[in-house]
Amino acid sequence: MSWFKKRKAPKKPIGTRTVKTEGLWEKCEQCKQTIWKKDLESTCNVCPNCNFHFKLKANERFNLLFDHGTYIEYDRDLQSNDPLQFVDKKPYKTRLSDMSLATGMNDAIMVGEGKLSDKVVCICAMESGFISGSMGVVVGEKITRAIERCVEKKHPLIIVSCSGGARMQEGALSLMQMAKISGALARLDRKHIPYISVLTNPTTGGVTASYAMLGDLNIAEPNALIGFAGPRVIEQTIRQKLPSGFQRSEFLLQHGMLDAIVNRKDIKTYLSNALNFFGF
Ligand SMILES: [Zn+2]
Repeated sequence: MSWFKKRKAPKKPIGTRTVKTEGLWEKCEQCKQTIWKKDLESTCNVCPNCNFHFKLKANERFNLLFDHGTYIEYDRDLQSNDPLQFVDKKPYKTRLSDMSLATGMNDAIMVGEGKLSDKVVCICAMESGFISGSMGVVVGEKITRAIERCVEKKHPLIIVSCSGGARMQEGALSLMQMAKISGALARLDRKHIPYISVLTNPTTGGVTASYAMLGDLNIAEPNALIGFAGPRVIEQTIRQKLPSGFQRSEFLLQHGMLDAIVNRKDIKTYLSNALNFFGF
């Protein structure tokens, strides 16, 4: 026991005391309510007040879908080599390395194989934080390889899309991925292996125009923006006011573009039942 009492640090005057709350709260984009982040974790990043579905990172999506969050990741090291030496506000090479640092990924998609409710499946999840989840050569190649593995091993395929479309910085090479993936999906179809497409907010451009709409089942999260061109461009082209709810999941379901809208908390059960139905 010490004979000397430790001197306490002098208390700050009340007016200057601060409480650190930064990063603990999130504001809902839809209902503007401030939500404690811990609460969001327990609801899979869905607003408890208005059911707004926040974006999920690719690895969070994997943790949600794969049993015990365990999977084997494929082609993690594939990287774009900047084929056009593209420069916009900054060189594409710099943009890629900045994005790599920010997300810990080499491109905008993760491919994993593991069990979903005890069924072996391959899941591809897009990462919206990596250049808006845009589809370039690497995304195209990783998905194509995933499909080829599914053909070989007879595993069902699930692709969770979240994308701004084709990647401008890779020009026509990005657009070619649409045909490449669609061709590979046709081979999967001929082998009678199911592919389920899950569309999340937002799925637009070349991704909607290719693999996101080619599923045996095309399902979406509630209120997701799904379309090819943006509403403003369409309005200017056709010179007509667009109906309310245009390009949202509910509107698309009503008009036969989607098979179902599934809440995030139910999505794993839904996928498992669908695979059962397909005989897997
Ligand atoms: Zn909300």
